[in-house]
This record gives sequence, C-alpha cells and structure tokens, in this order.
Amino acid sequence: MLARLREAVRIVIEHHATTSAGAAAINSSINQAAAALERHLPRVAAAASAETRSAALRTLWDDTSALRKAMAARGESDALPEPPLPSESARDDRKRASQPLAAFAGAWRASAFAALADAASSGRKPTGVAIFNTATGETAYRIERFAATENAHAFNSERIHGVSQHTHVNMRWDATLDERTCDDCADLDGELAEPGSGWESPDGGRIYHPPMHANCRCVATTVFSREALRASEAA
Ligand SMILES: [Zn+2]
Repeated sequence: MLARLREAVRIVIEHHATTSAGAAAINSSINQAAAALERHLPRVAAAASAETRSAALRTLWDDTSALRKAMAARGESDALPEPPLPSESARDDRKRASQPLAAFAGAWRASAFAALADAASSGRKPTGVAIFNTATGETAYRIERFAATENAHAFNSERIHGVSQHTHVNMRWDATLDERTCDDCADLDGELAEPGSGWESPDGGRIYHPPMHANCRCVATTVFSREALRASEAA
C-alpha cells in the first residue's frame, strides 16, 4: 500500500509542481495539487487494500487446502473445512481511508504554504518544485504510518473473516517481539482466541484483530486445533 500511495503522491506532485517563479502561480498550483491529492489518494488506498485482502484470503486458502489434505489422509473426510469466501469489507476501506488521507492532503497544503511564505520572507526566489518537495517531505511520515496501519487492518480483518467461517480454527495473536514492541501487544503474544470472540483489549473491551494501534506490527495467525475440531464435531 505504501508503494502505491507514494507513487500516487509523486504523480500528483509532478503534475502540479510548477517551475515558474511567480508566487501567484505557485499558490494556485498548491491548491490544485492538494485538491487532487484529496480526491485521488482514497481511491488508491482502497485499491491497495483490495489487493491486500486478496493476498490474505489466498494464504488462508493455502492453509485450508493443507488442512483438508491432512484430514482426508486421516479419513476425516466428513468434516473437511470449506475454502473461505471473501468478505465484503473492501468497500468500507475507501471510507476508512477518506478522512485520514484528506487530513494528509490538508497537512501537505499547509506545509506548502508555509514553505512558500518562508521563501518569500527570506527574499529567496521560490520555485514550485522546491516548495512541493519540502511539503511532501514534511508530511510523508503521516502517509507511511497510515499505509502500514491500514495494510495491517485489511490483512488481518480479511483473515479473521475467512477463519470465522470455520468452527475448528483458532487464531493466535503474534506480536513482533523486540525493543519497539509495546507492553499491550507483548502481553497478548501467543494468546489463542476464537475468531468471533476476539481478545481482551487493554481497556477491558474486546479486540477482534490487529492492529492494536498505529504502527502495530502484530498479526493474527491461524491455528488449526485438533481440540477445537473435536469440540465442533461433538457440538
Ligand atoms: Zn501490536
């Protein structure tokens, strides 16, 4: 997702950045570029989310095929799990993306005007390209954080949806354990949950899948449990 958003930003910036040295021309380019970013980025993010969701589903298909083979080999063909169907959440992704990406466009616009004012007050001759690049650099962190978090959301929510179609599958919360891991995520590491019931969140509520927070690197891993399988067969 990050690569696609970066590319979209680059295209918009290259299209609108003007090399002409008039402040009025740069002023109008900034407004046009900000409007284009606000319009364009949610579409790109939604397309990237859809790709991530397909990838999440493909990994689950692979897991399910492996499980079907193993169960068939054990003569358990009566309870073979069906391959998961896609969720319809992809259409919500564009809505989720709209507000934060509009905020990105707004922050970019503010940075560009600040850079323009800065150039004017220091008596430098402003160029649109330099001002556009300054603004993009200053706001790039926002888009990186957004991309990482939305990507994790799309991947994990699609997997949980797929897994919840099986009664004999559990999910395990897997944190990336290193010096950057927060206590909340480290606490959940290795905890099993049924897809529909989720994990206990730090505030005492339920969390149904990672990410726990912006920049969270946790994933929900599928665990095919013999015990859960037996329980579902007995029910
Ligand atoms: Zn985490």
